[in-house]
Amino acid sequence: MPTYHYRCKQCGYDFTEHQSFDDPAITVCPKCAQETVIKVFSAVPISFKGSGFYRTDSGKH
Ligand SMILES: [Zn+2]
Repeated sequence: MPTYHYRCKQCGYDFTEHQSFDDPAITVCPKCAQETVIKVFSAVPISFKGSGFYRTDSGKH
């Protein structure tokens, strides 16, 4: 399950969430309850890199 990185533009709260690919993105800040959360694409240490880690779901290529 991937980890997504979020940040609130309102209060600056910085957090990560474990979500599946199908889960909707979080938009409401859990701290200040404002709908000012953006998804951050930063150096999240998820090991999608490297050989031997290719997913072949549903037979598609
Ligand atoms: Zn906030």
